[in-house]
Amino acid sequence: MAAAGEAGAQRVRLQRTLWGSASHLCILVIGLAYYLVGFVSGTQLAILALLTLIINLGFIGAILSGINLWSRDPSLTFPQLFCAPWPAVYIMYFVSDPQARTAPLLMGLVALMFGAFSMSFRRLATLAGVLYGGYLLMVIGLYLNRSPHFEVRAELLIMVAYGLSLLMVARLGSLIADLRRHLRERNRELEATMRELTELATLDPLTRLPNRRFLMEQLEKESARMARRGAEQAALCVCMLDIDHFKRFNDTYGHQVGDAVLCAVASSLQGALRQSDVVGRFGGEEFLLLFTECSADCALKVAERVRRAVATVRVPELGAHGPVTVSMGIALHRPGDDMDDSLRRSDEALYQAKAQGRNRVVLAEPLALNAM
Ligand code: GH3
Ligand code: MG
Ligand code: MG
Repeated sequence: MAAAGEAGAQRVRLQRTLWGSASHLCILVIGLAYYLVGFVSGTQLAILALLTLIINLGFIGAILSGINLWSRDPSLTFPQLFCAPWPAVYIMYFVSDPQARTAPLLMGLVALMFGAFSMSFRRLATLAGVLYGGYLLMVIGLYLNRSPHFEVRAELLIMVAYGLSLLMVARLGSLIADLRRHLRERNRELEATMRELTELATLDPLTRLPNRRFLMEQLEKESARMARRGAEQAALCVCMLDIDHFKRFNDTYGHQVGDAVLCAVASSLQGALRQSDVVGRFGGEEFLLLFTECSADCALKVAERVRRAVATVRVPELGAHGPVTVSMGIALHRPGDDMDDSLRRSDEALYQAKAQGRNRVVLAEPLALNAM
C-alpha cells in the first residue's frame, strides 16, 4: 500500500520535472533561433544545449533512480527552482543584439504564470526572486565587462519593467494560491456534507442500522444479480423479524426504554450475522434480514441462531419483563421471483410465528415451481 503510494508520488514528481524541462526546451529553441539569425555562435549554442541537458537529465535521473528520496524535499523543488534561470542567463549574456535579449525574459514570465496554478506562493516568490536575480547578475556582468551590446538606459528600463512584471505575476499567483486553498477547504466541507447526507439517507438514526430505503435498494440489487446468474444455488432468503410484545415495554417503562431495547436488539442482530448478510430496520420494531447465497435450510439455522442470540440480550431497565424475544418469518427468493411477493410471504410467515405463540421461526411454503 505504502509502496504504491510512493510510486504514485514519484510519478507526480517526474511529471512536474518534465513540465520544468518543457520550459528549458523553449529556451533551447530560442537559443537555436539566435544561432540561426547569427546572434550567437555555434559553440555558445552547444554550451546552452549541454547545460540544458545536464540540468534536466540530472533531475529526471535523480527521480527515476530514486536518489531524490534521500532528500528532505523529495520533489527537489528548490534545487529545480534555483537551476531554472541559468541556461537563459548564459545565452542572454552572449546575444549580440540587446533587443533580442528580452525573449527569454518573456519565457521567465510565462513559466511563472504556469507556476501560479501549481505552486504555493512561497515557491512562486522564490522562482520570481531567482529569475530576477539571474537576470540582474547577467546585467551586472555585461556592465562590468563593458560589453558593446549593452545600453545602460534601455537596460535600466527593462530591469524595472521586468521586476514589476515578475512582482505582478507573483501577486496574481498568490491570489490563485488563495483561491485554490479556499476551493480545497470548500471541497472538504462538501465531501463531509455528502457523507452526512448519505448517512442520513441510508442509516436509521436510532439503531445506526441500514434503513428501509437502503434495504429496498439492496433487495433490488440482489434480485437483479440472481436473475443474471439464474442458478438455483444463487438462493437468497428474506427474513422479517419482529420484537414480541414490544408495546408492553413502551407502555410500562416509556419510549426511552423502548428505544434502548431496539438498540440492544439491533446490535445483537449485527453480532449474530455473517459479514455477507444484511440486516436493517424495516420500520418500528421490525427488522429485515437478507441471507445471501443461503438455502432455506441454511436460513432456518441462521435464524435460529439469531433468535437465541437476541434471547440473551439484557436491558437492565426491563427488570422482570426481560428477556426480549423475537419472531421471524422466512421466505426463499429464487431467480425470477417477484421481490414484493417474497417480502409478503416472509411477512405472512412472521404472522404465523406470532399466531403459533411467538419466539420462533417459521419458513414460508415455497412457491410452486410453475409459478416462477
Ligand atoms: P407483537 O408481539 O404482536 O409484535 O406485539 P407488539 O406489541 O410488538 O406489536 P405492536 O405492533 O402492537 O406494537 C409495536 C409498537 O412499537 C407500537 C409503537 O408505538 C412502537 N414503536 C414503533 N417504533 C418505535 C420507536 O422507534 N421507538 C419506540 N420506543 N417504540 C416504537
Ligand atoms: Mg412486535
Ligand atoms: Mg410490529
